[in-house]
Amino acid sequence: MQLIDGKATATAIKAEIAEEVKQIVANGGKQPHLAAVLVGHDGGSETYVKNKVLACEACGFKSTLIRYEADITEEELLACVDKLNKDEDVDGFIVQLPLPKHIDEQKIIEAIDYRKDVDGFHPINVGRMAIGLPCFISATPLGIITLLKRYGIETSGKKCVILGRSNIVGKPMAQLMMQKQYGDATVTVCHSRSQTLKEECREADIIIAAIGKPNFVTADMVKDGAVIVDVGTTRVPDATRKSGFRLNGDVDFENVAPKCSYITPVPGGVGPMTICSLMKNTLAAGKKEYYK
Ligand code: NAP
Repeated sequence: MQLIDGKATATAIKAEIAEEVKQIVANGGKQPHLAAVLVGHDGGSETYVKNKVLACEACGFKSTLIRYEADITEEELLACVDKLNKDEDVDGFIVQLPLPKHIDEQKIIEAIDYRKDVDGFHPINVGRMAIGLPCFISATPLGIITLLKRYGIETSGKKCVILGRSNIVGKPMAQLMMQKQYGDATVTVCHSRSQTLKEECREADIIIAAIGKPNFVTADMVKDGAVIVDVGTTRVPDATRKSGFRLNGDVDFENVAPKCSYITPVPGGVGPMTICSLMKNTLAAGKKEYYK
């Protein structure tokens, strides 16, 4: 069994990005600039945004954090999005999700200029991704594709089972694993209504679990030599930690790992790659790689 080290891979990629940014600036080009909008004080969102700002520093990007209280109106947030769309210094920006219930998330996502949508959530980017055109690809699936590639894991023609069908992980993951230029695999997507989920998993060469249920994937669901990618990050109470919780994946790591050829740990697997992919997208935005 080989552990897929997302932390080390992300660190290496961020160093590569920093090197490229240095060259760009040395040649008189513009330092890429990522803006992040954070609404409210959700603990998870605070941590994610803080890590994104730190990653910007590691990559040599300029970053701007815009904070609002949770009672901001939808109109005010739309006005902020409009301002960022028009700000020529900002190459890309994100509005950290989830948003308070009184704000229509989809409306905010669609208000973002798709050319600056480094989260890859705008329907234009989602659509272009689905038909294999250059675009910003959602960070978590892009991070997983990058990990599989960096570890030289063969995916072409393999049977890949994806657990979960969310817009930010399951669906784009299935699209990418199916496409010739990325996974080139035979893909099955399972969700909460799937009746043959266990059977599908047992036949899979690759399982990508993104459902948010701790230890859901057990050893009896995994065939020998399978590749396991664990996207799940559920906070479970843990009195031994200073924070009072730990992050738990969707896979029963202890019992599944010995059966696998490769497996991602939680934490330190997919998580760091997600932020790293956002940096990749920001670099592409700075270089106007996909859109003028
Ligand atoms: P989500 O929007 O809640 O979607 C969960 C999906 O799992 C849904 O499609 C749901 O099916 C399915 N599901 C739930 N219970 C199931 C069950 N018992 N059997 C089969 N399918 C089941 O979640 P998400 O945003 O995709 O995130 C999934 C997990 O990944 C969460 O733990 C999240 O924290 C984590 N995550 C991690 C990263 C990272 O960077 N590491 C990034 C994003 C998300 P239905 O559609 O039928 O309801």
